[in-house]
Amino acid sequence: MPFVISDECVACGSCVDSCPNGAIVEGEERFEITEDCVDCGACVDACPVNAIKET
Ligand code: SF4
Ligand code: SF4
Repeated sequence: MPFVISDECVACGSCVDSCPNGAIVEGEERFEITEDCVDCGACVDACPVNAIKET
């Protein structure tokens, strides 16, 4: 799971629908990528503040 959502996330929710596998969920303080992530990278460009990083 090399993709993670950093603390730059402003919890806008824009990335959720970009994920073909439903792997982005709302966490307590920011959104999170779950183990369902298949590393496609589709969510990266959906984030307006570039909070989704490939590690
Ligand atoms: S990399 Fe792909 S599968 Fe993983 S969270 Fe982003 S959109 Fe979903
Ligand atoms: S699009 Fe970016 S800022 Fe918005 S919820 Fe997703 S990771 Fe957070």
